[in-house]
Amino acid sequence: SNALEISQLEKVYENGFRALKGIDLAVQEGDFFALLGPNGAGKSTSLGIVSSLVNKSAGNVKVFGYDLDTQREQVKRCLGIVPQEFNFNSFEKVEDIIIQQAGYYGLPRKLAKERTEKYLKKLDLWDKRSTQAQRLSGGMKRRLMIARALVHEPKMLILDEPTAGVDIEIRRSMWTFLKELNAQGTTIILTTHYLEEAESLCRNIAIIGQGSIIAQGRTKELLKEK
Ligand code: ADP
Ligand code: ADP
Repeated sequence: SNALEISQLEKVYENGFRALKGIDLAVQEGDFFALLGPNGAGKSTSLGIVSSLVNKSAGNVKVFGYDLDTQREQVKRCLGIVPQEFNFNSFEKVEDIIIQQAGYYGLPRKLAKERTEKYLKKLDLWDKRSTQAQRLSGGMKRRLMIARALVHEPKMLILDEPTAGVDIEIRRSMWTFLKELNAQGTTIILTTHYLEEAESLCRNIAIIGQGSIIAQGRTKELLKEK
């Protein structure tokens, strides 16, 4: 079955710019999928719509069979979202940011604390739990965003340029973490403009340019034949 199904998705921004020109996309449950393309292609807009951060102009989106228009709350529960911009309150302590997100999903206090510990440990942030978020390095902030997105253990994780501005060592450890998460059954979709990132992580990719899907298929097949 499909984790994500997008059909004829269109986005016209308020200034009249047509960012998505009828996108069709299907991602299977359990896949590790990349939306690959240059800056400005429409990657953030597409996944922003799926994440309820951007309104669509036309088309249909289904997440694990739930319709974005009529079943938005169910869609949100299936998703963990890691936006490109840091959007946590940087004056808060690391652990409070995660616990609050758990509250947003209605997790009981005890479970919220357990999950917070689990994911801060997994992302190597447990030692920083009492640190103000603004004092973390860029790579740590990125990992904080991932821990926050996982606290309700979503079926699908969506990451927008997860390793942008992250140094090579941290990037590799993030890749390892994401591979493990996928191996345990979480469907992962990320956007990237790094060919190498898509190649080393993703089973399937869609290549997007100027608001249209140019190609979609197995990473190996698509990236070898250029
Ligand atoms: P990508 O993620 O591939 O870099 P985006 O989805 O961010 O691309 O942007 C796609 C296009 O839409 C770009 O040309 C961008 O300038 C434009 N765009 C993005 N956000 C807005 C906005 N709020 N208003 C107008 N145009 C926008
Ligand atoms: P509401 O509409 O209930 O006020 P929002 O949609 O504004 O909630 O989201 C509240 C916070 O939760 C924001 O920081 C937002 O980025 C975050 N958020 C919303 N949906 C998700 C999600 N599926 N996964 C992770 N964070 C989310």
